[in-house]
Amino acid sequence: MATTHALGFPRIGARRELKRALDTYWRGEIDQDTLLRTGRDLRSRHWALQAEAGLDLVPVGDFSFYDHVLDTSVLLGVIPERFGRKIGEDNVDLDRYFRMARGRAPRGEDVTACEMTKWFDTNYHYIVPELAHDQRFTLHAHTFEAQLDEARAERRRSKPVLLGPLTYLWLGKPRGAAFDKLELLERLLPIYAELLQRLAVRGIEWVQIDEPILVCDLDAAWQAAFKAAYQQLAAQQSPKLLLTTYFGGLGDNLEWALQLPVGGVHVDLARAPEQLSEILSRLPDNKVLSAGVVDGRNIWRTDLEAWLEPLERVHDQLGDRLWLAPSCSLLHVPVDLTGETRLDDELRNWLAFGVQKLEEVALLGRALREGRASLAHALTANRAALAARRDSSRIHNAAVQQRLHAVTPAMSRRASAYSQRAPLQRARLNLPLLPTTTIGSFPQTQSIRAARRDYRAGRLDRGTYEERMRAEIKHTIKAQEALGLDMLVHGEPERNDMVEYFGELLEGFASTQQGWVQSFGSRCVKPPIIYGDVRRAGPMTVEWIRYAQSLTERPVKGMLTGPVTILQWSFVRDDQPRADTCQQIALALRDEVGDLEAAGIRAIQVDEPALREGLPLRGSERAAYLGWAVRAFRLATAGVQDETQTHSHMCYSEFNDIIRAIAELDADVITIEASRSDMELLAVFAEFDYPNEIGPGVYDIHSPRVPSVAEIAQQLENAAEVITQQRLWINPDCGLKTRAWEESKPALANMIAAAHKLRARIGG
Ligand code: GLN
Ligand code: ZN
Repeated sequence: MATTHALGFPRIGARRELKRALDTYWRGEIDQDTLLRTGRDLRSRHWALQAEAGLDLVPVGDFSFYDHVLDTSVLLGVIPERFGRKIGEDNVDLDRYFRMARGRAPRGEDVTACEMTKWFDTNYHYIVPELAHDQRFTLHAHTFEAQLDEARAERRRSKPVLLGPLTYLWLGKPRGAAFDKLELLERLLPIYAELLQRLAVRGIEWVQIDEPILVCDLDAAWQAAFKAAYQQLAAQQSPKLLLTTYFGGLGDNLEWALQLPVGGVHVDLARAPEQLSEILSRLPDNKVLSAGVVDGRNIWRTDLEAWLEPLERVHDQLGDRLWLAPSCSLLHVPVDLTGETRLDDELRNWLAFGVQKLEEVALLGRALREGRASLAHALTANRAALAARRDSSRIHNAAVQQRLHAVTPAMSRRASAYSQRAPLQRARLNLPLLPTTTIGSFPQTQSIRAARRDYRAGRLDRGTYEERMRAEIKHTIKAQEALGLDMLVHGEPERNDMVEYFGELLEGFASTQQGWVQSFGSRCVKPPIIYGDVRRAGPMTVEWIRYAQSLTERPVKGMLTGPVTILQWSFVRDDQPRADTCQQIALALRDEVGDLEAAGIRAIQVDEPALREGLPLRGSERAAYLGWAVRAFRLATAGVQDETQTHSHMCYSEFNDIIRAIAELDADVITIEASRSDMELLAVFAEFDYPNEIGPGVYDIHSPRVPSVAEIAQQLENAAEVITQQRLWINPDCGLKTRAWEESKPALANMIAAAHKLRARIGG
């Protein structure tokens, strides 16, 4: 009997119940008990969904009020001193937990939040553990055990989920002077051992222990640490461990990882199916293999019969030692397709969201147990859906294919080098030295959101809606003029989200109504679905930008989302290489760039905040990715005249390791996040002479705090030390859409005052 299970389920709820509860709790509108009850209800419902789908084990501990890495920090007592020393009897109190995540909670004083960064190559963000060189660990398992009690009360067969000790350390950041994080392992392991022992006493049979770093490049020290750590855990009283990997193949870690003294291994066969045969030949014959065959990162129906072929053979070989699961936690897909009443039937039939993926796993399990004949009906339906998708006329567009074949390398190169373009642009734009600008969006006020809601619900007609948006644009342009910014933006009021907006306008894309995926905390995004060849039906942004430019003499930037970011933040078709889909998007954007230029727009920004996030986890795959990603950006932007200035913007990540690829984008200007890391970024410019113009963000827009002139001036001085004055721009870190006008105006005024100070000093 093949055991079936899921590694984790989305926490947010099919109707974003958790998001709503969190937001209202943080605003002080509901009490903690109400929030806790929402959490309990969601857990209970999600376990029920998994059991009803027919899965044998349910994960416990995958739920989180904010982030599972932060939960692990609390579980292990890793709480930085600024959040208070004393840890409660059994548990850290929930408000302190929220202060660690976001600096603020209904009770207690504001404090600097912990850093947040991307979870492997996903758009989910985790809270980075802060590790001191003398870090102590203490077990605080109250919350975890309470959830096990809940599951037991509901008679679920529980499989607790833990983030493994090595991955936990890997994700952490040393606080203060650098040290080798592996030195902490010796102190960390007894805590894991204590917890496992407690779970054994409870009668738990299996524990899922997540070690996704096993799909990353691990040096000898980490490999040795893995072996030592799991040896030590195996020597204790413990449930059986399911060593769980995802987001790629085990690669060169395969051989030794399979030998670790654990009960079984979960592998991601959706991402790395090629590893199956080697795993089978090397799997010790006392170990379980959990096959992650249903893609937990994408929303396409699984080809069940294509999987049954190899799985039946594996089942013959392994018998009960074969388990089945989605490839990774379902955290990365929306909850339930049945919420999508507006998707057309044809497209819907191609998709599987979280609940449907549970059903797919269960079906595969039944097929192995009872034989294919017992579910002939379901298999036929699956086959028909896949065939319908493959043959659909909506997927292939001959014109797009032709255009793709006609792309030449020259199309990805500007006509002249930056050194020739720059003087032409300078003459045309007539900007002062150290020009000031912003990243694109201005505050998305209540009234903007209300107008969009009303328009979508049909309560506002199109004319009135557009009128309101024009009023917002006008207000934003006038505000920027009054502040004295040099290069303006229209403010993006008409965009709900920088990817969803374009997804709704491009052909080959579909939007969902409830396809929410957690990005961080209570923030969710609704990634569009790219199902077919991508084409631009017509201009997408030109009228808004043309209008904005008509209101002012100063240059207004055209504002687009780049091909890599649109790809990265969508669910991408799996029937052709991602690089090809990216190129199609690039061609569509190239047309938009051309139309903006033809409309007299002198500067065009193409944002690529997700460029870094798409970087493969394995070093050996990075050059290829950066190659096609950079080409796509250039294909989108390089068609313009020398006089037209291209901009790009990036945020959310570390750039130091990809700075050369960023330079190869050959954008005339790039604005980049820097202030949150105290301009750590600037270190790279001391060694690498960035060839074009660059604006390292001088203040953090993620915080409501208004930075002083002196503070910003200091940041500017730091930047001016490593970046040539002629190439330095002055701007915030990112778009202002999450801020209020009351914060943005004084902050920008201070930024501009600091710019004037520096200009005066250097005689500009
Ligand atoms: N132009 C976008 C904005 O200002 C960029 C957002 C981003 O970098 N994530 O909102
Ligand atoms: Zn940004």
